Amino acid sequence: MDKRTKFTLDENEIPTQWYNILADLPEPLPPILHPGTGKPIGPDDLAPLFPMELIKQEVSTEQWIDIPEEVRDIYRLWRPTTLFRAHRLEKALDTPAKIFYKYEGTSPPGSHKPNTAVAQAYYNKMEGIKRITTETGAGQWGSALSFGGACFDLEIKVYMVRISYDQKPYRRVMMETWGAKCVPSPSPDTKTGRDMLAKDPDCPGSLGLAISEAVEDAVSRDDTHYSLGSVLNHVLLHQTVNGLEAKKLMEKIDAYPDIIVGCIGGGSNFAGLFLPFVKDKIDGTKPDLRIINVEPASCPTVTRGPYAYDFGDSAGLTPLIKMYTLGHGFIPPPVHAGGLRYHGMAPIICHLHDLGLVEARAEHQLGTFEAGVTFARAEGIISAPETNHCIKAAIDEALKCKESGEAKTILIAHSGHGHVDMAAYDAYFSGKLKDYEYPKEKIDEALADLPKVASE
Ligand SMILES: *Cc1c(COP(=O)(O)O)cnc(C)c1O
Repeated sequence: MDKRTKFTLDENEIPTQWYNILADLPEPLPPILHPGTGKPIGPDDLAPLFPMELIKQEVSTEQWIDIPEEVRDIYRLWRPTTLFRAHRLEKALDTPAKIFYKYEGTSPPGSHKPNTAVAQAYYNKMEGIKRITTETGAGQWGSALSFGGACFDLEIKVYMVRISYDQKPYRRVMMETWGAKCVPSPSPDTKTGRDMLAKDPDCPGSLGLAISEAVEDAVSRDDTHYSLGSVLNHVLLHQTVNGLEAKKLMEKIDAYPDIIVGCIGGGSNFAGLFLPFVKDKIDGTKPDLRIINVEPASCPTVTRGPYAYDFGDSAGLTPLIKMYTLGHGFIPPPVHAGGLRYHGMAPIICHLHDLGLVEARAEHQLGTFEAGVTFARAEGIISAPETNHCIKAAIDEALKCKESGEAKTILIAHSGHGHVDMAAYDAYFSGKLKDYEYPKEKIDEALADLPKVASE
């Protein structure tokens, strides 16, 4: 039996270009609309928020986009990342399936997020921007952008969802170590935050609200831009560095996945892994490839939300994006531990789902932790609670193989480690974590509250 466990590329094999799926979509993405006019937005509408290079990438239909040498040099600190064969997990499950995972937890902040944070910091620096604002949920994005800011000497201000700020002090300390400033959202630093605090001083916050604060802060200052850690096309583009490495590694060992699983919050880590593979499904070379997006049952955006135009934030400051959505007023239940709590989803993933090229499933929290513990005891890695969602799906697929006797190849997008999430594991072990199903009435309420779009 072949016992090889780690598959690696040389540092000089870090991809030199990102892959842009917009070049290969069978139908173009629905346009992003201006909330006032209902017309597709142009570059000028986004210029107060983002550097022009990123705005160009957002709409580019070039198939390949060069990775700047300065960005590649920083990628060298942790890339290429390793592809693992999960021999010990396969044995523990007694499955004929071959399970692989591409592990992004070896980056400085411990997840895939710096793949885009470093690129975004670079393009802002090149345009003379001094300061970037952003939001963070569980804290990984805030810490990744703080690291990116440190790489290019930029000031970073992070609005962190209040409940996570209270539950995860160590993420804040990581941000401060990299030189950033982190405040709980809602905060007294913006009008949106002050209004919310006046209404509800104990508001646990939400990603949508923190986005509103970060956007308000950025548009109020000329030296400041805003940065988003997921959802947008350019973010998914930067993440493809990971999928390109994975594809090259699998080619080298003459393997190809039958099933790819990943967890989706805004969709960036998983899209980054699967987009170079979905290309093969679109062009007909791999018609049977299955791509499974896994989300929490407590925030079931793709599995239960409508596919409709909605705001990206809760205050309605952002353009209107066509996506599966739970409504921009979504406030996640505070019982939930993971970071997959955004009301919307990357338009690229939504579009591919709508076209039937990818599928989605929702998992309950307790089952995901059980899967994460199984994984940790077999493979050693203690995974982020987000990642546990797709580990659960991978284990279920591997167990189906055990029933059917099929030796399918399963590839897991392993987005990061859970070393700063031990409080969530503690809650799981002590029986304090509960499952929570997002109620149907709330989805109906959100539907009624969707912005009206003339062109629909
Ligand atoms: C942020 C994060 C996610 C979810 O974000 P995506 O944009 O959907 O990738 C998943 N896993 C980890 C470890 C994260 O930090």
